[in-house]
Amino acid sequence: MAWLTGYPREKIHWYPTVDPEKCVKCGMCMNCGKKVFEWTEQGARVARPYDCIVGCSTCASLCAGKAISFPDVEVVREIYRSQGIWAKVKQQLIKEGKLG
Ligand code: SF4
Ligand code: SF4
Repeated sequence: MAWLTGYPREKIHWYPTVDPEKCVKCGMCMNCGKKVFEWTEQGARVARPYDCIVGCSTCASLCAGKAISFPDVEVVREIYRSQGIWAKVKQQLIKEGKLG
């Protein structure tokens, strides 16, 4: 089940941005299971932004150079509210027998 139950991922501008000036090439962000980053001689680069999981910010927490930033999470909350995402997720969970 898609977390956003069909809401187009490309319409949610949630993904990391790397400040190359601050990147100390620690490589922690390369552990992202979604393979959002790729490695270059200059350090990490965001190669597949829309593969980032909406709301996740693990790489920013781990980043040794504090080089990774994200938009304000309120942007995501507003989409969640205005699009009734939770109601749709609940319906889907009920359909899958995962919610009573
Ligand atoms: S926020 Fe999470 S999913 Fe997105 S790039 Fe960072 S570690 Fe990967
Ligand atoms: S985690 Fe931060 S400092 Fe480390 S390589 Fe990635 S962007 Fe650079």
